Amino acid sequence: MRDATVLISGAGIAGTALAYWLRRHGFRPTVVERAPEIRAGGYKVDIRGAALDVVTRMGLREDIRAHRTDVRGGSVVNAAGKRVASMDGDTFGGRQGEDAEILRGDLNRMLYEASKGEVEYLFDDAIDAIDDTGDRVGVTFASGRVDSYDLVVGADGLHSATRALAFGDEKRFIHDLGYYVSIFSVPNHLELDRWELTYVGPGRTALTYSTAKDHGAKAMFLFASTPLEYDRRDRTAQERLLADAYAGEGWEVPRLLESMDAAPDFYFDSLSQVRMDHWSTGRVALLGDAAYCASPASGQGTSLALVGAYVLAGELAAAQDHAAGLASYEREMRPFVEQNQKLGPANIKRMVLRSAGQVRISMAMLSLLGRLPGKEKLMAKAIEPIHKAATAITLKEY
Ligand SMILES: Cc1cc2nc3c(=O)[nH]c(=O)nc-3n(C[C@H](O)[C@H](O)[C@H](O)COP(=O)(O)OP(=O)(O)OC[C@H]3O[C@@H](n4cnc5c(N)ncnc54)[C@H](O)[C@@H]3O)c2cc1C
Repeated sequence: MRDATVLISGAGIAGTALAYWLRRHGFRPTVVERAPEIRAGGYKVDIRGAALDVVTRMGLREDIRAHRTDVRGGSVVNAAGKRVASMDGDTFGGRQGEDAEILRGDLNRMLYEASKGEVEYLFDDAIDAIDDTGDRVGVTFASGRVDSYDLVVGADGLHSATRALAFGDEKRFIHDLGYYVSIFSVPNHLELDRWELTYVGPGRTALTYSTAKDHGAKAMFLFASTPLEYDRRDRTAQERLLADAYAGEGWEVPRLLESMDAAPDFYFDSLSQVRMDHWSTGRVALLGDAAYCASPASGQGTSLALVGAYVLAGELAAAQDHAAGLASYEREMRPFVEQNQKLGPANIKRMVLRSAGQVRISMAMLSLLGRLPGKEKLMAKAIEPIHKAATAITLKEY
């Protein structure tokens, strides 16, 4: 099994990490990425618990430490911009100990650099068709290239094309949590210095932050909604939906929305989870968001992708054949995934409050909490579930 050829679709966090580990175990991975290059910049993500062990085993811990966002803290503000409560960065971001916050693009670049010497990367291309014959998987690429591999792994995100080809329509697997998320770069007009400001209105939250590694700032929007009909390739339609959802909202919301048109990295999607009974069929397997997206509200998507890549490569290397390796990957990962997926629906209810009454009560409680002498201890208790989930797997030595 160890010298098998593996085609990975997607050079995101999961795909690049898997390529690294497969190569280290002696496999011959190729990565095909739809974008012309690794996507740089982006929003901040956390690496926690078992995922920290994975990056340490990759020798990336120091590099990650050097690229921390260094966000010093965050405040919840009211419509007039008054800071109702403030906390240090780790408490605000739900981190403990060595947990690290880093820009997604910086992490992606590091994983790519760590793997690229010995891995073939095909940018600006994608899988068009797969034909699993039982012995091999024949692949036709969008570019017209044709090849075959021992295994194909879909690490191509929430709307995975590999999953659609091998398992069917995404509607069967994507579970909408009842919210939408949008994020994009904005000018740092509030002159935030590594600080995050969050405004909570009824049914809609907006926040902005600056990091040590970014000259501008980011704006993020989370709002409750019934399912919206739109074309995922039509950015203008998505911008309109976002503007409509925040119409008449106070604080800095209008100013932040003004920047969306010019943003190079506008992102808009439903806040969703991927739930599947199996993460592989024949010689095609899924990894990361494609298999078990926990939703951005979980704060654990990156860690699941890193741990999943480590376990998938390790189990394939330890197994007699691909079927046994894929079965053990699933056995090892599923309880960890399930525990982390529980975080998303629970967190989002605290991030977006449904009614004006809930907002008023929450603001009053936060204001009180902000003045309590033991507030850090209380907040540490509040982030205990995420820490528990992040450490809910014991990594094997493969
Ligand atoms: C707004 C937002 C905030 C988030 N915040 C956090 C957080 O705080 N903490 C955290 O841990 N996680 C967070 N996440 C989640 C995290 O980014 C993902 O869970 C994680 O990146 C999963 O990685 P992945 O490699 O599975 O998917 P992705 O990062 O989505 O990568 C998929 C890759 O596949 C490529 N691709 C897509 N389709 C194709 C195709 N057909 N062919 C070839 N290539 C293709 C894409 O270009 C991309 O490079 C957040 C996500 C979002 C959207």
